[in-house]
Parts: sequence; C-alpha cells; structure tokens
Amino acid sequence: MEFSVYEMDFAGGTVPAGMAHEVNGNTWRMHGTDAVPIRCTALTGAVGEKVGCTIYPLRPAPCHELVEGSEACHKARAKLGLPSLG
Ligand code: SF4
Repeated sequence: MEFSVYEMDFAGGTVPAGMAHEVNGNTWRMHGTDAVPIRCTALTGAVGEKVGCTIYPLRPAPCHELVEGSEACHKARAKLGLPSLG
C-alpha cells in the first residue's frame, strides 16, 4: 500500500512521519506493510478478533478506500483466511 509523499505530515498531509518510510522520492509506505507477515505499525489488537487503527483520522488514502464490505475488504480478509463481512 503506497501513497504520495504529500500525504506525509511534513509535506502538508496527515500521516505521522515516524510511522512511514520512503519507497522512492514521491512514494511512501506505512512501516510494516512491506514485511512478511504484513502488519501496519498503526494497527493495534489481534487480526480476526478485534483491531483498530491508532491514526484513523490521519490514515493515508489507500486506507480510506478499504471500506468494510468492499471488494478490497473481501480480498484482504480472504488473504488472512477470514470470512467476508457481507
Ligand atoms: S487503516 Fe490504519 S492500521 Fe490499517 S493500514 Fe491504514 S494506517 Fe495502517
């Protein structure tokens, strides 16, 4: 999940700089999203039980697009072996 540098707080956006890293000059990623297994640094809780985002109001655009019940949500849950939410 990559997003524009302009979503970073130091570049006028909202994503805290300490929670993401540069992929190239214009593209950034949340820490942990290029690891195996993937786990965003902003995620709290246990996947499949109860989770939360510690920067929810500040999260980058790709996170806004992953709406509960969307196709992207179904695919993300399927990758983790979790059932669809509806
Ligand atoms: S919604 Fe929050 S925890 Fe989930 S990927 Fe985005 S920043 Fe990370």
